[in-house]
Amino acid sequence: MAGHVNGIRQGIGMTSARTRERLARRLADQGIRSRDVLEQIRNVPRHLFVDEALASRAYEDTALPIGHGQTISQPYVVARMTEALLDGGRLDSVLEIGTGCGYQTAVLAPLVKRIYSVERIPELLRRTRQRLRDLDIYNVQFRPGDGWRGWPKYAPYDGIIVAAAADEVPQKLLEQLAVGGRMVIPVGPPGRQELLLVSRLSDRYEEVSLGAVSFVPLVPGT
Ligand code: SAH
Repeated sequence: MAGHVNGIRQGIGMTSARTRERLARRLADQGIRSRDVLEQIRNVPRHLFVDEALASRAYEDTALPIGHGQTISQPYVVARMTEALLDGGRLDSVLEIGTGCGYQTAVLAPLVKRIYSVERIPELLRRTRQRLRDLDIYNVQFRPGDGWRGWPKYAPYDGIIVAAAADEVPQKLLEQLAVGGRMVIPVGPPGRQELLLVSRLSDRYEEVSLGAVSFVPLVPGT
């Protein structure tokens, strides 16, 4: 994928592969260990996921606006969540809640078999579908809808990744997680959110905190 992307959109200055390499090194310094994840940070052209006016800031390790009051997640957080999700071994099916501009989706897509991605703002989803197609990513199925309900049709999922913060882990998502599966989800009110890793064991769920984070809220309903 990377070769193709670099080929058709030769980066200039702040959007070049060299800039992405710098970002990947910074994330490694901050503790990201997964080679696959760092490789994806190098591959995915984040500047194509934000407005052209912000492209020069795309490789700063920061969240940026993507319209509709939403943000593209900070690269460190995307890397950390992806690493935590993949840590338990190979994942066939992953449910993603909060597609947004699709950066997280693009980072994860080559590392799993199939992603099912739910987003409540249809206009965002329309542009994201096209963007991922332009990047030759085809193993993602999208759906406009309410992430609190998950996507029952393809459940259970080996992995669930949620890009917006809920007050509590949505019950439907717990139900749609396969036994042996893992969910990464920010939980808590603004200013006091933490990233949780929820594992489903044969007879119970186990929660581990991965630290403090700051996400837009997982809006109730659509
Ligand atoms: N994954 C994105 C980050 C998106 S920000 C990235 O890689 O940058 C969070 C997204 O969650 C927003 O697009 C927002 O519209 C969406 N969202 C919020 N509440 C939702 C809900 N209940 N169901 C589905 N999507 C939701």
